[in-house]
Amino acid sequence: MIAMVKVLVAAPLHEKAVEVLKKAGFEVLYEEYPDEDRLIELVKDVEAIIVRSKPKVTRKVIENAPKLKVIGRAGVGLDNIDLEAAKEMGIKVVNSPGASSRSVAELVFGLLFAVARKIAFADRKMREGVWAKKQCLGIELEGKTIGIIGFGRIGYEVAKIANAFGMKVLLYDPRPNEERAREVNGRFVPLEELLKESDVVTLHVPLIEATYHLINEERLKLMKPTAILINAARGAVVDNKALVKALKEGWIAGAGLDVYEEEPLPEDHPLTKLDNVVLTPHVGASTEEAQMRAGVQVAEQIVEILKG
Ligand code: NAD
Repeated sequence: MIAMVKVLVAAPLHEKAVEVLKKAGFEVLYEEYPDEDRLIELVKDVEAIIVRSKPKVTRKVIENAPKLKVIGRAGVGLDNIDLEAAKEMGIKVVNSPGASSRSVAELVFGLLFAVARKIAFADRKMREGVWAKKQCLGIELEGKTIGIIGFGRIGYEVAKIANAFGMKVLLYDPRPNEERAREVNGRFVPLEELLKESDVVTLHVPLIEATYHLINEERLKLMKPTAILINAARGAVVDNKALVKALKEGWIAGAGLDVYEEEPLPEDHPLTKLDNVVLTPHVGASTEEAQMRAGVQVAEQIVEILKG
């Protein structure tokens, strides 16, 4: 009898992705977020592992998986996988980079509207029994300028939506894609100009050395006092301390944040005390569609690799 190919799913995975694996004739083992010792037990005879941002696939795990051929990450970041160890052992690593781009872009506008029209603030007041109509004077998006820092997959989706709202689009990216910019009526400008000219600044860069605290005190001071900053990239792209200062002292009007230098955001963090900021708990990719796409894309790549 031929033994079935075993795939270990070590994090919640969309049912459509599990279907792809089963349809390919694989045996799917499931255990949510096993710790290292348990993972070592589980990987003994599997040919593929699927994880999300957890659990950690360490060198020790990889060295104890003699049949392992591929590690799949349903999502983007690969920081929980020892890539060097995988490479040394000839194990492929696959992920699903574009799966959540639209979801993140739509959240950007959710945050933007919540700040621009003071929706979260108004909701809090309503629940306190306060009819805060006078404190809820907002702004429209039409005719305003949005500055997109990092014009990759998500930045492009944000620009498309901005077009639909009649916004002007400024772009900053050290690797400008002019053709895509034309598609969204976007114009590449130097960073300083983008910060000075934009009514909304939104960040879509990876967190690398060059983007750590890219938005610092000095750059926050370049922005318009009426401007709104959105960060749904990575927390440390913005100096969070400087941002608190900027929001308190009115260097900018407001901010919408999905990511933080420290996650989860501590309960007593100064950001939680400010009315001109809207906070979400890193939910950019948390949609039904993004989860499904991320899972299915990874499952399909695994099937392709294991079936040769
Ligand atoms: P991408 O690689 O497609 O695009 C990133 C862009 O940033 C590229 O065009 C690159 O040239 C540009 N860039 C690099 N360094 C830069 C710099 N110093 N200044 C300006 N631009 C620079 O990535 P993406 O898929 O669009 O993702 C963007 C960010 O969104 C990442 O940080 C990712 O981690 C984050 N993200 C967040 C969530 C969430 O849940 N909030 C979900 C997915 C991705």
